[in-house]
This record gives sequence, C-alpha cells and structure tokens, in this order.
Amino acid sequence: MDHISVIGAGTMGNGIAHVFAQNNFPVTLIDVSEAQLEKALRTISKNLDRQVAKTILTEDQKRSTLSNIKTATEITSAVKNTSLVVEAATEQMELKLKIFRQIDEAAPIDCILASNTSSISITKIASVTKRPQLVIGMHFMNPVPVMKLVEVINGYATSKETTHKIIGLTKQLGKIPCAVNDYPGFIANRILMPMINEAIHSLYEGVAGVEEIDTVMKLGMAHPMGPLQLADFIGLDVCYSILNVLYDGFGNPKYAPCPLLTNMVTAGFLGAKTGEGFYKYIQGSKELVVSGRFKK
Ligand code: NAD
Repeated sequence: MDHISVIGAGTMGNGIAHVFAQNNFPVTLIDVSEAQLEKALRTISKNLDRQVAKTILTEDQKRSTLSNIKTATEITSAVKNTSLVVEAATEQMELKLKIFRQIDEAAPIDCILASNTSSISITKIASVTKRPQLVIGMHFMNPVPVMKLVEVINGYATSKETTHKIIGLTKQLGKIPCAVNDYPGFIANRILMPMINEAIHSLYEGVAGVEEIDTVMKLGMAHPMGPLQLADFIGLDVCYSILNVLYDGFGNPKYAPCPLLTNMVTAGFLGAKTGEGFYKYIQGSKELVVSGRFKK
C-alpha cells in the first residue's frame, strides 16, 4: 500500500488518518468541509501531543506523522493514485452509495475500497461498484489511536485475497483484526446496541437513574464505561441509525429504538458532540455531570 485516502474528517476519520500516518503511510484526508479538515488536523496534533507526553512517541515521530497527512476537499482528484480508500463519512446509506460510485469511477482499478460503516451493508455498498470483490468493511473503534480492535467485514462478494490484504494491513497498524460476515450490525453493534437500547428503556421506564444504570454495568460487569455514557460518546444519532439498520435488516421489533432515544435525537441532544445527552458536557471539564433532565 503506497498511499491511503480517508474520506470524512469527523470523529473517526481524523483517528484513522492519524493511525495510518503514524505508521508511515502517506495519507490524504478528504472532507467536503474545509472547517472539518482544519479541526481534524488540530485534533490529530493534540492527540499526538498526548502520545508524546506519555512517551509513546517522540517529537520527531509526531512531526513525521503530521508531515504524512495532506488534506483535500474534492474526492475525484484526491483518490486518483491511491492504493486504499477508507470511507468514514456520515452514517447515511444514500451518501455512502454516492461516495462509492464516485470513488469506483476515479480510483485505480486495483484499489481496495473499504468502509468504516458501523452497520450499513458492505454487500449493498459493493453492489454499486464495478469491483465488489475489492470492497470490504474496515470498522475501527473510537478513539482510533487507542482502541486495538478492527472488525473486518466480508461482503458477500469480497474476495479472500482482499480480506487477507486488509487483515495484514490491520496488523501492520498495530491493531487486532477480527473477520466477520456481512449481516446487520456485524458483531460489535449487533451485541452492543441492544444493550445500550435496553439501558435507555430502563431509564425511560423509571427502573433506575442514569448514574445507577451506568454504575451497575461498570462495577457489576467490569465495563470501563456505563452504556449511557458510551451512547453519549458514540453519538445518540449514530446509535439511533444503527438500531434502525438492525430493526429493518432483521424485521424484529426487539431492535426498535426506545422512544426516549428517538425524542432525544429529534430534539438534537446527541451526547458529547452537542454538549448534552444523558450527561452534560462542559468544555475543559472532565467531571461527569448527569443532564438536568434526568436529575431526580
Ligand atoms: P462524523 O459526523 O463525526 O463525521 C462525518 C464526516 O463526514 C463529517 O466531517 C462530514 O463533513 C463528512 N462528510 C459528509 N459527506 C461527505 C462527503 N460527501 N465527502 C466527504 N466527507 C463527507 O461521523 P463519525 O462519527 O466520524 O462516523 C463516520 C463513520 O464511522 C460512520 O459510518 C459511522 O457509523 C462510523 N463509526 C463511528 C463510530 C463512532 O463512535 N462515532 C465508531 C465506529 C464507526
């Protein structure tokens, strides 16, 4: 792999670009928004500073990581000479299909096209390209520079060779690949999202408060973070759309998003990224404060 293109410079895209660049791959980070690209570069620099402070990286490695990253706002020219595209744009089916049609036209014929989607069918994404054997899921976890797992998702038509290449590349990044097949939610979100939804139902039905639900799961199950805090961290809109993919994909009402989650998303209370979800987030403060709406 000589060159990597990452599409989408949001929460995940900046982390994916960071990890490739840190491992000496030249990366082009692409976003429709110039402001998002600038924010992503600031985030990468801040996260590299953290790694330097923890002596994980040297100042020189930080500099060379940053020098490996270029940015672009236009996909077609940016993917012309790339070996791998990792798409990490907004979790919307129509948007992803549009992007994959575009990159299929513009990228070299042997370029692998990967998606970081949390739940959208890789088989469906591959079906709009002329190279379904080269389309695969590369599902990084948040925060990307820290989390070891990459769920590698084989679409129905993904070739074994493509899977082997992506598994090898994932190991080269110092991550641990786990290959799964393409069914709604794959493995990570098929198991995680019903747990988060059940935690929201427990709150909605008044079984317990936000702190109690998260404390039971942290102390009782040794989870590093409770499910409601984790939902805020992932983004409640992302949780909502994944639950809908599970609901539609399996046709089973057990996956329907809890009405409280639907209300919060409709009202724009999306968790950490908007400053309020189940908790309230005050910039610069690390204290975890339950949102006033859920105080007893
Ligand atoms: P985000 O909203 O933080 O960022 C999405 C970015 O995509 C934005 O910067 C937006 O400007 C950009 N974008 C939209 N349309 C574009 C286009 N046509 N071309 C280029 N860029 C475009 O979203 P995110 O949380 O980073 O999620 C990205 C993907 O990663 C989604 O598929 C999501 O399901 C998946 N994912 C998210 C998490 C998580 O914890 N947030 C974890 C794993 C996977």
